Amino acid sequence: MKQESGLRRLWSVARNHRPKVILATTYTTLGKVMDVAPEILIGVVIDVIVRGQESFLATAFGIKDQWQQLVVLTILNAVVWILESLFGYLSDVTWRNLSQTIQHEIRTSLYQHVQGLEVAWFEDRTSGGLIAILNDDINQLERFLDSGAASIITVFWNIVLVGALFAFSSWLLTLFAFIPIPLIILGSIRYQQLLESRYARVRETVSELSATLSANLGGITTIKAFTAETREAQRLDQVSGDYRDANLDAIRFSAAFVPLIRMFVLAGFTCTLVVGGWLVLNKRLEVGLYSVLVFMTQRLLWPLTSLGQTLDLYQRAMASTNRIFHLMDVRPTMPEGSLSLPHKAKGDVRFENLTFGYGEGNDILRGITMEIPAGETHAIVGSTGSGKSTLIRLLLRFHDPRSGRVTLDGFDVKELDSSGLRSQIGYVSQDVFLFHGTVRENIAYGAPEATQEEIEEAAKRAEAHEFILQLPDRYDTVVGERGQKLSGGQRQRLSLARAILRDPAILVLDEATSAVDNETEAAIQRSLATVTLNRTSLVIAHRLSTVRDSHKIWVLEGGQISESGTHDELIVAGGLYAALWRVQTGEKG
Ligand code: ATP
Ligand code: MG
Repeated sequence: MKQESGLRRLWSVARNHRPKVILATTYTTLGKVMDVAPEILIGVVIDVIVRGQESFLATAFGIKDQWQQLVVLTILNAVVWILESLFGYLSDVTWRNLSQTIQHEIRTSLYQHVQGLEVAWFEDRTSGGLIAILNDDINQLERFLDSGAASIITVFWNIVLVGALFAFSSWLLTLFAFIPIPLIILGSIRYQQLLESRYARVRETVSELSATLSANLGGITTIKAFTAETREAQRLDQVSGDYRDANLDAIRFSAAFVPLIRMFVLAGFTCTLVVGGWLVLNKRLEVGLYSVLVFMTQRLLWPLTSLGQTLDLYQRAMASTNRIFHLMDVRPTMPEGSLSLPHKAKGDVRFENLTFGYGEGNDILRGITMEIPAGETHAIVGSTGSGKSTLIRLLLRFHDPRSGRVTLDGFDVKELDSSGLRSQIGYVSQDVFLFHGTVRENIAYGAPEATQEEIEEAAKRAEAHEFILQLPDRYDTVVGERGQKLSGGQRQRLSLARAILRDPAILVLDEATSAVDNETEAAIQRSLATVTLNRTSLVIAHRLSTVRDSHKIWVLEGGQISESGTHDELIVAGGLYAALWRVQTGEKG
């Protein structure tokens, strides 16, 4: 399939607003007509003064008195100017309105599209780079849409209207005045093509810059802790320098453009001046008309310099538009399932002979078979990097397995629609993410309609209520970006409250760390005892004492299940679990 050009796709978006486009075009056209009219009036005024009773006004409209003629012209002139201002205003407002609507539509649909892409796709990209497209590139497009179309239409009508006037007055002059036009237009288009790759480069460097900025601001505490400020400042200097250089390279070309057009304009203008003057001296052209034409040549040719600016803006915008539509064309590679589960699933989870690896990499999980019957609490333990979190990501269908399958109530998760699947699962991830907002908003994130009582109830069960009451504004305390104003343990408990407020069929807890104090551990254990009731729970634990009462404990080692059973069974078996238990508690079970 041939890729459609950015402009054409832009047009297909704009086409949905055709009435507005037509209206805006009409305003611009009328504005242009009014803009040309005063020049004609000036000609008529000079004609009145030079020829008096013989003037065009006198002969055509029978207004004999010269003074009267001038009054009529003055009034006409005022009306024309007022109308020009009015249409200029209307045209500007309508085009800008349209540009706002279009940029808004593109941005929101692009965001929705990106949001629908799979997790693996995001892992290969930087959020800063994506923000550059969703923000800067769309703004660049907006800048062109603001004035670009109006400017092209103006130039078009300018050529037509002024051209008609010329043709009406003198064929010879028309010829001379018009010679530069095709040269300018064709030359402009060719010249602009030189800029294409340069502007594409500018956009790439914007992305880099944005990625660096967002990474650095996100990691500001690490930068400070490692006193890397100077190094990071230098790095930013480098990326920002690349952006500047890419722009300078483009500017070298784009800045030469308008002066070049001026040279052509000068040639055309000189011709009209000389040829017209010669015609007047030989009495073959009226002085009034001559002065109008000299004016008109300026009016005809000068706007072409603005065409240069518009084309430049266009070329910049197209570099952005291509990136926008390129992103829009990324297709999700994990086909969405269509089956939907009942409002609340039973919660039977199975991993069947599952093998998985990230991207092209080695297998991380091999031949995993696990069964977690509805309502039970199971634990997964294993050394770091053994694939515990990965297993959960497969249950949430962030990725698809290489072979084998994950099922929920007997359905392959691939066949389920992903929002239906995920709404059954309350997920407390290892690296808890809180949104910039209040405690209340964060807890209610997955259930926005929840009442204050429900929110507090969830917080109590997650052992979060107590510490929330100690916060300056209690449930209305703002947690800061990513929840940075809370402690790690507090974040985790909020995240647990958030998960259980949805009352999910399955609760998944990916414990962040084994390094918790005794009090926190006791709190976690108390809340686990209540929140795992009446639902399937899957707990990844570093601290084995938290999962000792689980129905079953699975030990993951090097991507495989090495042993499984209850705490007592595993202690008796004397394998890895028993060894870990000894290390952690110093007892023999
Ligand atoms: P921990 O106890 O430290 O949380 P874990 O058992 O949860 O470890 P996983 O996060 O599942 O381990 O990671 C298993 C392996 O997969 C690791 O070797 C890790 O490097 C790799 N890995 C994890 N996430 C990705 C990813 N998005 N892309 C590529 N490789 C990954
Ligand atoms: Mg993990």
